[in-house]
Amino acid sequence: MTDLFFANTYSPLSSQEIIAKEKANMDAPRFAHCVRVSQTAQKLARLNHYDEDKAALAGFVHDYAKQVPVSEYREVIKTQGFDQDLLNWNRAIWHGIVGTYFIKRDLQITDSEILTAVDRHTTGDVEMTTLDKIVFMADFIEPGRDFPGVEEARQVTFANLDAGVGYQLAHSLSFLAEKRNKIYPRTFKAYNVWSIKDN
Ligand code: GDP
Ligand code: FE
Ligand code: FE
Repeated sequence: MTDLFFANTYSPLSSQEIIAKEKANMDAPRFAHCVRVSQTAQKLARLNHYDEDKAALAGFVHDYAKQVPVSEYREVIKTQGFDQDLLNWNRAIWHGIVGTYFIKRDLQITDSEILTAVDRHTTGDVEMTTLDKIVFMADFIEPGRDFPGVEEARQVTFANLDAGVGYQLAHSLSFLAEKRNKIYPRTFKAYNVWSIKDN
């Protein structure tokens, strides 16, 4: 078992119970990614004077619902008060926004900062808190990531968290456009706030 430590004051469940539930909800590579995101989030928290335990927990649970079946997502979106427009977009964006439902239900985490960071981790948003940025960037630069530009992304992010957010959004937008994928409006809006150098 990978080293993983966070003081958990955000759920009536113990850290060990959270870890066990998360492990049971995903395959081993996804779990290992979550551990690395947790560790990277902790590091970014330290650099940015944010609560390291909270960042580590938020990073750990960010993809909790990544492997929930599509049928279950559709049911939750239809019955649990989510924007029905979500059904018109790629399932890739559901595990953040709708993932918060499963995290509340299964992991009993109700802290709104943690849930918002999970909600925003795939698309970013116009407004982002320090924790939102930490989780968003930890997900992008964790040591297991390997894509052209990842080293530059790491350098930029460790030097300046906001600049990292701008880097990631520009990178993701070009990646999605290259593949002619549908782009969720929130991703566009976030790009216009965080990635623009001058115009
Ligand atoms: P992961 O969960 O650790 O794999 O990482 P993310 O949560 O950041 O992203 C999951 C996937 O969502 C990636 O393949 C992104 O390219 C994709 N994604 C992010 N924003 C959008 C969007 O606006 N539209 C679509 N179609 N996909 C998106
Ligand atoms: Fe994700
Ligand atoms: Fe992730």
